[in-house]
Order: sequence, then C-alpha cells, then structure tokens
Amino acid sequence: MANRQPLIAGNWKLNGTRESVVELASAIASGAEGLSTEVLVCPVSVHLSDVLAVVGKSPVRLGAQNCAEAESGAYTGEVSATMLKEFACEYVIVGHSERRSLYHETSEQVAQKCLTVQKAGMTPILCVGETLEEREAEQVEAVIAAQLDAVLKVGNVEAFRQMVVAYEPVWAIGTGKTASPEEAQAVHALIREKISSLDPEIGSSLRILYGGSMKAENAASLLGQADIDGGLIGGAALDATSFLAICEAAASTVEKSAS
Ligand code: PEP
Repeated sequence: MANRQPLIAGNWKLNGTRESVVELASAIASGAEGLSTEVLVCPVSVHLSDVLAVVGKSPVRLGAQNCAEAESGAYTGEVSATMLKEFACEYVIVGHSERRSLYHETSEQVAQKCLTVQKAGMTPILCVGETLEEREAEQVEAVIAAQLDAVLKVGNVEAFRQMVVAYEPVWAIGTGKTASPEEAQAVHALIREKISSLDPEIGSSLRILYGGSMKAENAASLLGQADIDGGLIGGAALDATSFLAICEAAASTVEKSAS
C-alpha cells in the first residue's frame, strides 16, 4: 500500500474578521507543531495575507477556497490561481458543493479549474459527492464517476497525479449528519478503484479526504478506514481545539500504522 500522509484541511468558508482569523491561525499553528499529519487552512482570499503572516514559518499550509477558470482578463470579481500562488497557497479547493449548487459551477468548469490550479503550481482539492436524492435513487457511483470523468476528459489520469480528491456527500455537509465509516469507505474505495484501473500507481498514491460533519468525536473512526486519507472540515475547522483534535486523530492513524 502506498504511504499516503493524511491531510486535514480546514475550509473556513465566508467567516471571520482579520483579527479572528489571525487568532484561529495562531492557535492552529502552535498546536500543529510536531504532528505527523499535513495541516491546511483555507481562509477567504482577502485574509490570505494576514494568515500567511502567522502560519508562514509553521508547518501549517495555506490554501484557497476557489479560483477563476481563466488565468487573467476581463473577469470582474474573480481571483486567479497565479494570484493565489503569490500568497503562498499550495492548495485550492475546487468544485465544493456550495460552488456547484449556489453558483451553478458545472463539472466541466470544475475540471478546467483543476488544470488552471495545477498549471499555477498548486494542488487542487477536487470535491465530489452526491445529494440525498441521488443516494436514495442509488446513483452514488454514477454521480461520482461523472464528476471524475469530467476531469479525466480534459486532463487524463495524469491530472490525478498532483491532486487530492475530497468525497463530500452533500447531505452531510453542515448538517451534523455524517456518512458512517463504512458508507464513506465504500465510496472512497470506488474512487480509488476507478483511478487505479487507469493507472495503478496514481490510484494508490491519490489522497482521498472525507468531508461532511467530521468532528473530534467521529474523526478517529472515519480516518481509520483504509481509503480515507484525511478530512476536509467546515464547521469544526472554525474552532482550534476541535480542529486540532481531528489533526491529532489523523496523526495517531500514522503512528498506529508505523508501529
Ligand atoms: C465542507 O463544507 O467542506 C464541510 C465538510 O463542512 P462541515 O464539516 O461543516 O460539514
């Protein structure tokens, strides 16, 4: 099995003030010191500079929540991948379900964004996931496959070499409902099998995060699953104690597998 370092990513969404994000980032930066897991925070773009000043010399990585498909030009209000790179972003969340549903981003646009992020030298965190209706209609596999196919169509399996996938069942995001570890693991295994069938090496080293009401209380059981390589955390990422408890749960899976 490939050695996949867990990644715990905090998606701060549209929250915080310059002062409060600096406080949150400082607490996370000191708590993340020495943990054998990768820790990432994704503030809104206008807070990147403040957060960078705090986490720049710590092990905590910086990421963005979205970026423009285009590299530059007449796209009022957008922020480009190269601009994010200038703020030391290493990751960009792409295709979050809120972007897909509230801003009508299509899988084709999301795929294009993945390529734009990679071209700028960063790693996309590609979010995929089904709605409750789709789950009830037993369409989980088809929905996830279509979301992955859109990226495969424009970037081939090679696009998954510098990529993180986040499986986020839409019905579990911000609702307090979590997929059971077994339900989540089943979808993670499907994602890995699909990519592995095209390139076994890319598939086995691909990190697949779970997102959807992950919190300190359920993190260990989710992160203990074979194909769950970390978490994309919304609500619990806004509280340093809760977020660090998830990071510690991820680090203890590494320590367990090393012993
Ligand atoms: C998210 O928005 O990516 C997310 C997983 O949110 P929450 O943890 O609040 O469900």
